[in-house]
Amino acid sequence: MADLHQTPTSLCCCRKSLPVSGGLCAGEPGRPSAGPGPGPRSPRRPRVDVASASNFRSFTLHHFHLDLRLNFAVKEMRGWLVLDLVPVQPGVCTLVLDSHPSLLIHSIDCKIPGSGDRGPEDPVSLTYRVDPFTDYGSSLNISLPTGTRPGQRIQITVRYTTTDGPAIWWLDPELTCGRSRPLVFTQGHSVYNRSFFPCFDTPAVKTTYSATVRVPEGVTVLMSASRSSYSKQDRVFQFSMEFPVPSYLVALVAGELHHADMGPRSRVWAEPCLLSCAVKKLGGSVERWLGVAEDLFGPYLWGRCDIVFLPPSFPIVAMENPCLTFIIASILESSEFLLIDVIHEIAHGWFGNAVTNATWEEMWLSEGLATYAQRRITTEAYGEAFTCLETVVRLDALHRQLRLLGDDNPVSKLQVKFEPGVNPSSLMNLFTYEKGFCFVSYLSQLSGDVRRFDCFLRDYISEFQFQSVVAQDLIDFFLSYFPELKDEAVSQREGLEFERWLSGCGPPPYEPDLSAGGALIGPVQDLCDLWRGPAPPDPLSLAPFDLSSWSTFQIVLFLDRMLDRSPLHHEVMSRLSSCYSSLLDGLNAEVQIRWLQMVVRNSFYPDLPRVRVFLHKHTSRMYTVPLYEDLVAGVMKCVAVEIFYQTQLRLHPNLRRTLQHILFQTGPAPPPSSPPSTPPLQPLPAATATSPTTATASTTATASSTGTPASIALLDVNVSA
Ligand SMILES: [Zn+2]
Repeated sequence: MADLHQTPTSLCCCRKSLPVSGGLCAGEPGRPSAGPGPGPRSPRRPRVDVASASNFRSFTLHHFHLDLRLNFAVKEMRGWLVLDLVPVQPGVCTLVLDSHPSLLIHSIDCKIPGSGDRGPEDPVSLTYRVDPFTDYGSSLNISLPTGTRPGQRIQITVRYTTTDGPAIWWLDPELTCGRSRPLVFTQGHSVYNRSFFPCFDTPAVKTTYSATVRVPEGVTVLMSASRSSYSKQDRVFQFSMEFPVPSYLVALVAGELHHADMGPRSRVWAEPCLLSCAVKKLGGSVERWLGVAEDLFGPYLWGRCDIVFLPPSFPIVAMENPCLTFIIASILESSEFLLIDVIHEIAHGWFGNAVTNATWEEMWLSEGLATYAQRRITTEAYGEAFTCLETVVRLDALHRQLRLLGDDNPVSKLQVKFEPGVNPSSLMNLFTYEKGFCFVSYLSQLSGDVRRFDCFLRDYISEFQFQSVVAQDLIDFFLSYFPELKDEAVSQREGLEFERWLSGCGPPPYEPDLSAGGALIGPVQDLCDLWRGPAPPDPLSLAPFDLSSWSTFQIVLFLDRMLDRSPLHHEVMSRLSSCYSSLLDGLNAEVQIRWLQMVVRNSFYPDLPRVRVFLHKHTSRMYTVPLYEDLVAGVMKCVAVEIFYQTQLRLHPNLRRTLQHILFQTGPAPPPSSPPSTPPLQPLPAATATSPTTATASTTATASSTGTPASIALLDVNVSA
């Protein structure tokens, strides 16, 4: 792990202090529309969120409370939800919430606090109806009491039980790392939390929340909340999130979890068997990274910055749940990837969590900005060369995707317009991250000074913290912040028009200069060039290249670029194996999986036992799906089937279904409404389906400017939601 210990320097002196909005984003009346100009501004309101069935614009949601009892034996959460809200539009007689067929609604009632003689203070039972919405949710229509007036505070209580919804992942003991106790976690991004609790499931709405969670003895509960307490006698955990968050950032994990403090505001949580490794890997780094981020972008707003490591069944790499990042334990062995992933999630504390994309069509506002911020942090903490090397690996992957998909594919747009019914999670891809990063880098370049742009981002957070924004808010703020650029009409520069950035297909119109990484990247390319020909290179020419002294990202870049050239001549593959296979076998999984993909794609049987060993060891989606896809696409399908039958009982049922679909093409592909670990996979031919990247979220993107669904298998690089 590169650890250059550069001291971050804060040159920001331009921070403006603005009041916190309070996050009352849903249909708040009387707020002006956004626009450049003096004084605090309100972000623009998206007209509609096609991914939500709710009528969120008709209400202001002040707070909600969850009271749940967890039952591991039957894999259910049972309890109630209390919504504290105010109608803001005259004539509203129905409250429509996002829900899911897996939620069993028992009763709904309404209370009007402090109403005295103006209405019922005692709860009144309400009628309700559940209607179909999409394959990822339903709409819960609740008839409000007659005479409910705008401005009148009401409390709606929904009593319900969760069953097997896509947000909630119950793990039997054998699927945990310790294999002795069950565990449950939730994963709400993007539209799954409607199967956790009925809600306004749109990123446009933010609110505070609290929760009471009752559990069996020996179970620890954690939530994405700023405060928590525990009554051992009652086995009840209490949580309070005092900062407004969108529904998708409400998260819970419960199991045998122990902790260790890493710093004054950071604690690592993990199953007991993992804890010492997690502590050793992270140490005091989290506090250091937080300090660097604060110097760049202003105060960390969330108080706690805890991290919980989850078993390999966790369907993605990491999730930026506020106060409590979720991260897959499988990444622990790959130190440089762990570093990048944790820093990325920390960056979301500012970009994505404090200021959130108001619709799922502009996810790049969270991911592009978080990726830019992550790289600013790594530049300050580990140097520009390290950051450039990591960036090259990702931009290589972006261009690989473009070669597969074609420049005119609509999934390459930053602003994706999706039709009603399309699952937003299916549109999260490398472009969301890396094209978004390039646009932010372009804005930084326009500002003329990266430090000046840091100040801009700091003030952007200050301006919009705890609110949800659209891209135009960012652009308006940018142009008002840099009036000289507005005067130069930079948004209209030919070929680099902001509109083209947002709505255009194809590669980024601009990519940042990465030449500062030359000392690290150059040797990688030189070694690739040596292996270019149909015959192996002269051993003497290889002598200067000692891979054992290379960083993980250097080796990953080398293997990615060699994978791009596969299939290779057998003689070349044979020499590659004799030169590197033993060395790579002792390195981390991010390196190993790339080498094994080369083995499979080139049908190099001598190293096939290593593939078997790897797939017996690794049970996460990120380290199984890419290899199975390669095995099936090539001539080794029978090997894949054999390994699957030997290991399937150690795989989460959702992953098992995905692999069964890859292997046997049986039944319909798991729909996008399935948990995010089970998107439908449509293996492409080996040359295309198996991107030489670590696929950690393989999605079927369905987007079409013509409205005609076009399914494309996308393998994302290390997607951290
Ligand atoms: Zn992210």
